[in-house]
Amino acid sequence: MDLQPSGRPVQQILDDAVAGRRISAGDAHTLILEGDLLDLGLAANEVRNRFNDPAVATYNVDRNINYTNVCVYKCRFCAFYREPGDPEGYLLPFEEIGRKVEETLALNGTGILMQGGVHPDLPISFYEDLLRYLRSSYPACHVHAFSPPEIKFIARKERMSFYDVIARLKAAGLMSIPGGGAEILSDPIRKDVLAYPKCSAEEWIDVMRQAHRNGLRTSATMMYGMGEAVAARVEHFQRVRDLQDETGGFTAFISWTFQHEHTEMPDVPETYAEEYLRTLAVSRLFLDNVVHFQTSWVTQGKKIGQVALSFGADDMGSIMIEENVVASAGTHYRMSQDEMEHLISSAGFIPRQRTNLYERLVTRADTAEMARKYRGSLTPQNRDLVSSALLPVLG
Ligand code: SF4
Repeated sequence: MDLQPSGRPVQQILDDAVAGRRISAGDAHTLILEGDLLDLGLAANEVRNRFNDPAVATYNVDRNINYTNVCVYKCRFCAFYREPGDPEGYLLPFEEIGRKVEETLALNGTGILMQGGVHPDLPISFYEDLLRYLRSSYPACHVHAFSPPEIKFIARKERMSFYDVIARLKAAGLMSIPGGGAEILSDPIRKDVLAYPKCSAEEWIDVMRQAHRNGLRTSATMMYGMGEAVAARVEHFQRVRDLQDETGGFTAFISWTFQHEHTEMPDVPETYAEEYLRTLAVSRLFLDNVVHFQTSWVTQGKKIGQVALSFGADDMGSIMIEENVVASAGTHYRMSQDEMEHLISSAGFIPRQRTNLYERLVTRADTAEMARKYRGSLTPQNRDLVSSALLPVLG
């Protein structure tokens, strides 16, 4: 994999990307180093609009549920985990997870993103029981859960292949897999920040490959700004694009910047808006086989989230009903659905709620069927909380 700057003129690379001609990893490296920020943004916006409705920006109402904070690993960038035996460690009872799902549905939510630390004591039957509980109690709730490090740990513990673990979880009700644990898919930096033991770059890719082979969609994520070289980010892009060529299973690319507060890496300089927008734009230009790109308003703030919609992103991500991992590192952004819609409208786009699989929910014509399914999840208690915009299709 040649990751060094290609040396081609920036304008030529941008013209190729905008015209739909594939650019190389070396070209992406050149763009990150030499591209003018606004030129990158304009080009990324053109590509965004080739894949997505230029007038619309989407968002999701879901909830992050961290079912446990107990973890066998000690990633240096993580402020969330507690070691096994730590009095602050927890494992949520199923009923409490169920209560969080009910609150999510009551707030117009369509799904949950459930990840944990990597708990050493949980057999695969725990995950299967939890999934069966959720699917039978809340059939309309999309369950997007268990990132590659969790899948890898289960596979090791049960002496099973990644494919077979995912097949069992899918049979129990798993509907898609989040891209957590990717950080930077380049092993030297993974070793440095202690992400390597939980999974190597190739293991992360292979879990996703096996998920796609099982017919599950997944997201691709990247957390950067941990002091890594630009070549490491470019390697990450290349690995994601290669697997997407092979399987087509990624729904979206979601990148965010490392938050150092309360971690073991307090001296790493913060990644600010210029670098964030530059990296987002280049990722949009390089990943010519991924449809959706999320902003990272949670780490960059709401205003930069708005700007990101013109730098290649088409989706604002979740309103974040609950988020513990980034919050542990000192970030506490939250917003209501109304605020999210206002944020998108005031950035010049029509807001549309979507599901975890990027199906649009709140449009009258194309969502009646989804709304009918969704209606089944409403109880007399939470129905009153459904926004009036949905009621005409819910009936
Ligand atoms: S990032 Fe995940 S795997 Fe690493 S220590 Fe934190 S909870 Fe554990």
